Amino acid sequence: MSNYTDTIDFIKSQFPNKDFIPLHEPNFSGREKEYVLDTIESTFVSSVGAFVDKFEIMMAELSKTQKAVAVVNGTSALQVALRLSGVGNGDEVLTQALTFIATVNAIIYNGASPVFLDVDLDTMGLSPNAVQAFLEEFGEIRDGVCYNKKTNRKIAACMPMHTFGFPVHLDKLVEICNKWNIPVVEDAAESIGSEYKGMPTGSFGKLGVFSFNGNKIVTSGGGGAIVTNDIQLGIKAKHLTTTAKVPHPYEYVHDEIGYNFRMPNLNAALACAQLEQLNSFIQNKRNLASEYSVFFESIGVKFRTELPNTKANYWLMCIELENTKDRDSFLKETNEKKVMTRPIWQLIFKSPLYSDFQRDSQENAIYLENRIVNIPSSVRK
Ligand SMILES: *Cc1c(COP(=O)(O)O)cnc(C)c1O
Repeated sequence: MSNYTDTIDFIKSQFPNKDFIPLHEPNFSGREKEYVLDTIESTFVSSVGAFVDKFEIMMAELSKTQKAVAVVNGTSALQVALRLSGVGNGDEVLTQALTFIATVNAIIYNGASPVFLDVDLDTMGLSPNAVQAFLEEFGEIRDGVCYNKKTNRKIAACMPMHTFGFPVHLDKLVEICNKWNIPVVEDAAESIGSEYKGMPTGSFGKLGVFSFNGNKIVTSGGGGAIVTNDIQLGIKAKHLTTTAKVPHPYEYVHDEIGYNFRMPNLNAALACAQLEQLNSFIQNKRNLASEYSVFFESIGVKFRTELPNTKANYWLMCIELENTKDRDSFLKETNEKKVMTRPIWQLIFKSPLYSDFQRDSQENAIYLENRIVNIPSSVRK
């Protein structure tokens, strides 16, 4: 792309009457005010209230899982989900370096280390082939537990992330992890409502995690959810995220070192009103995606669309530019013209804080890091 005027004009035409076009803004056109006011009028704004229960029921339903637990944010949901999958001090977790920092921080909060494996070019998420190649070279099963022969540490979990709402190749990934006795924990923070072969992302792993941060499709202000088909694990997730207090009318007895990660009822109220609109938001975004798709095809630019057998929620839409020079001039020109665009994340190991962890070639991740740019993707009123 040598001149971006047409692209900027096109994006502006999709979001008329806006001085500045953000990447993703929340949309409160449902019962948000009513539900939030209800919590204030009832005084149940904090750790107890009907909206938390309602939210958990809605989340289990929409993710087609047995149990959902509401927590304060997606990062804490990841932290607890990993711990419940069996990750502990000194263990390793297979994941991608092309992700938001929370994926990796949640591993480190558990005293474990990430192993950065490559992504697929088509999904932009963790590659089953990369996981298989790594395990064939470094994996060893002893007493039913998978170890990394190089470090002698337990490989306690595998955490794929569904980048921008595009599902990874789940069938193959789950099959490989099952073969090596490695539990899968899905970072589905960006993929609420996305499907793989008709089933929701988040429902394929031992546990799945969603985020309700303000920049996601639906928001609770800040919030997260853990989902699982293992009811006992779900009950444990609730217990652990609510200070591990043993139920009693007035005594304080705690049977584990738990966390105060419970989602306040005030936030759950907002989340319930938002979830009621999730399907219409996704449809709205899919319409924008098809407009983008036609436009970018007409100017010969690659716009990312969902793969066969999947449904993407199109959380953040993106284009693939020819090289870093194109990418940088596109970013500069669009942002100067008040059309917000942003490059995909810098690969996590490029920061000195995270550079010492084991990783593979990262060939595809580097390719995408240099080319993928997010464009305005909000729900249009
Ligand atoms: C948003 C997000 C999270 C969780 O973020 P919170 O702000 O803690 O809710 C985790 N992983 C990924 C990939 C995300 O995009």
